[in-house]
Amino acid sequence: MDKELFKEYGYKFVDWVADYMAELEKFPVLSQVNPGEIRNKLPLEPPGQGEPMERVFHDFKKIILPGISHWQHPSWYAYFPATNSPPSILAELLTAALGAQCMIWQTSPAAAELEEVVMEWLRQMLGLPEGMTGVIQDTASTATLVALLTAREKATDFKANQEGLKKALVIYASEETHSSIEKGAKIAGYGRENLRYIPTDESFAMIPSELEEAVERDKKDGLQPACVVATLGTTSSTAIDPLAAIGKICRRHSLWLHVDAAFAGTAAILPEKKSMLEGAEDVDSFVFNPHKWMLTNFDCSAYFVKDPDVLIRTFEIHPEYLKTGLDAQVKNFRDWGIQLGRRFRALKLWFVIRSYGVEGLQKIVREHIRLAQKFKEWVEEHGDFELMAPVSLSLVCFRLNDGRDEEALNDLNGRLLNSLNQTGKIFLTHTSLRGKYVLRLSIGSRTTEEHHVKEAWELIKTKAAEVLK
Ligand code: PLP
Repeated sequence: MDKELFKEYGYKFVDWVADYMAELEKFPVLSQVNPGEIRNKLPLEPPGQGEPMERVFHDFKKIILPGISHWQHPSWYAYFPATNSPPSILAELLTAALGAQCMIWQTSPAAAELEEVVMEWLRQMLGLPEGMTGVIQDTASTATLVALLTAREKATDFKANQEGLKKALVIYASEETHSSIEKGAKIAGYGRENLRYIPTDESFAMIPSELEEAVERDKKDGLQPACVVATLGTTSSTAIDPLAAIGKICRRHSLWLHVDAAFAGTAAILPEKKSMLEGAEDVDSFVFNPHKWMLTNFDCSAYFVKDPDVLIRTFEIHPEYLKTGLDAQVKNFRDWGIQLGRRFRALKLWFVIRSYGVEGLQKIVREHIRLAQKFKEWVEEHGDFELMAPVSLSLVCFRLNDGRDEEALNDLNGRLLNSLNQTGKIFLTHTSLRGKYVLRLSIGSRTTEEHHVKEAWELIKTKAAEVLK
């Protein structure tokens, strides 16, 4: 049965995938279904008997597909991208077929060793300091939690693991930091009250002198500063925190420095964007997501540490049933994070890097940055719109502004966003910058070309004229 099923449906599905990718633009980029609409079409109870694949596939197309928002659509400008690519999809198919669970070296030596190799390739591609060692995590949120836990252990001389926290530890991040830092502070024992949000400058980047003052204030109050999270590419506006100045403060006060470059890290493969990593020699841990802008399908988050021993000491466990005679000679990635069981994620990254080469990836990222600059110029030239943040990479923050008061402007831009997304032609999301409602146009889809961005701009102008009426 297995062989026949693969013969008939394997080819059919791969054909369907190829057609889907070629015809993606025919779908509404944002799913237009209402809450409950998909669930109501599905039986409440599982089938007692196996069903023919033809029926399952039919329902996939008829029921599931209309409820999908098409992240790979060239007119996807929402959030940050979550890109895939043909090499990555093909590798994922092989990964599923192998079905390897890669918790320790012995459970698939190739998975462990390939992970070491591709992470070293990534380190070189970004230009992170030599000696930083990488491990693949599922998401940046997990990697940041791992960093906060490791920082906690370092700050307490590995006592918190053993005895629990005796004294409050403090984390510092900019007021523009991602919500995963707050989640990490909540669950890693620091407590939300011990997360300090440091003010930002006019480009929404952390102000180092404010950081140092906050650290000194906490020390005076008898608290223990433990960790700073710097962001390269904030979620709202891709602001770049000044790493070199922050790193010096961390060294002066013996603080763990974690860098969240979830989206923007990929841009460091470009020589012209490497300056954001100035000061990286002072970084203790660094995360970025190849699943965002490096064509490697979700999930794949690259986490680098300066000192793997501290990481391993935080997470290692040695139950009898996981011991092998080779543990002293190999890397067992189960000790490099929270989960025991691990997916074989290195394969898709290897396929992507080999298929595109560093230059191929650079070309795509550079083009997205160029397109964002174009869009920025159109916004600046148009009297009814204004730019709301510097465009450091491929995200443009803007709003419609006809001079009405701030509250009314927030409402106006909310209505503009809704009317744009209801068309199904493009999908944008919003944020708030200093209390102002801001539209975000985030470019990162592998297939986005200049004419798509131009069409988006024309649609934005048309809908703006309608909401202004
Ligand atoms: N950090 C930043 C700056 C982000 O923009 C995001 C998501 O967009 C995250 C962290 C969380 O990423 P993940 O979904 O991989 O946890």
